[in-house]
Amino acid sequence: KMNPEDKQFAVIGLGRFGMSLCAELSERGAQVLAIDINETCVRQAADIATQAVVADCSNEATIAELKLDDYDLVMVAIGDDINANILTTLLLKDVGVKTVWVKAKDTPHCKILSKIGADKIIRPELDMGIRIARNMLDKRVFEF
Ligand code: ATP
Repeated sequence: KMNPEDKQFAVIGLGRFGMSLCAELSERGAQVLAIDINETCVRQAADIATQAVVADCSNEATIAELKLDDYDLVMVAIGDDINANILTTLLLKDVGVKTVWVKAKDTPHCKILSKIGADKIIRPELDMGIRIARNMLDKRVFEF
């Protein structure tokens, strides 16, 4: 079984989704580096994550400086700025990050992300809808 402390995670983009990931990863004993371009978000994450830094990850030099290629899994949770989301993903794959997971907005965005090598594409609302529908159909819900 995987030991969470053995894995190094980085989360880029600390909106509701990224922040929630950081909190759960930390809670379960994993090492997590939290990154955002916005200082307010980073200050909030500093209480949760192992380490929190202010950085623009769509910048090639920044990706190199942060040594993100050493991490086991990097999550790109940048939302509205699709350009930054795509560029960050591209740079992470370029420096050789083995596993890059990315939050996507819509189908065209997903297509681009899979072309540039995203290892997993997450669409929180769609994915959660599927999970909740399965929960609704779970027999145990009706056993009371
Ligand atoms: P959520 O639904 O998770 O709340 P969202 O989809 O509304 O988020 P945004 O708030 O647009 O997404 O983005 C998430 C975070 O990503 C923001 O805190 C934003 O500051 C950060 N971010 C945007 N561009 C960059 C970048 N180039 N490098 C690092 N972080 C970035």
